[in-house]
Amino acid sequence: MSTVIPMPANWADLCSSWEEIRHGYHAGDKDATVRDCARRLDTTAAGPKDGPVLFWTLGLLTLAPYVAFGDPGPGVEDEVTAALRRIARGDDSGSCAHGWHPYDVDVDEMLEHLPTALEVLNSPADHTLNGLLPADCLDGLDDGAEPANLSGPEVLDRWQCPRTAPGFARAALDHLGATVH
Ligand SMILES: [Zn+2]
Repeated sequence: MSTVIPMPANWADLCSSWEEIRHGYHAGDKDATVRDCARRLDTTAAGPKDGPVLFWTLGLLTLAPYVAFGDPGPGVEDEVTAALRRIARGDDSGSCAHGWHPYDVDVDEMLEHLPTALEVLNSPADHTLNGLLPADCLDGLDDGAEPANLSGPEVLDRWQCPRTAPGFARAALDHLGATVH
């Protein structure tokens, strides 16, 4: 198996920069990194269906705490919000058979776990599928949601669901205190 979700070749460098910004020790131009992520998301969303939309959405999710609380320059938050809204509004594929998606995990827990999850999503053959989600995150599901014993392939399937990027975009908008519409 190759990559589970489409990711650009330099995904690991991008992920490192995003993590540095999230943890507040990025030495480069934070706003330029944020704007670049928002523009890539916009461009990718307008392109072929198999582009790395989820990857760039997860980037903005990682950068959302900085955008919300890090005092970014003028226009940055608007640009991020507009890109995320476009993705969030794209959740018109109706329903799917899944009772649960990775975006249902607590956002802070997911942010802590995301670098590991991206490694697994990039190359699942090299990693344990347990890396796909924070430990124990399936335990707190509501009754009626899916059972906690989803297999690795079942969890991968939910990462690949077309509703997953819109769900993470909604989570990022929530973090920014913005609405979808
Ligand atoms: Zn689904």
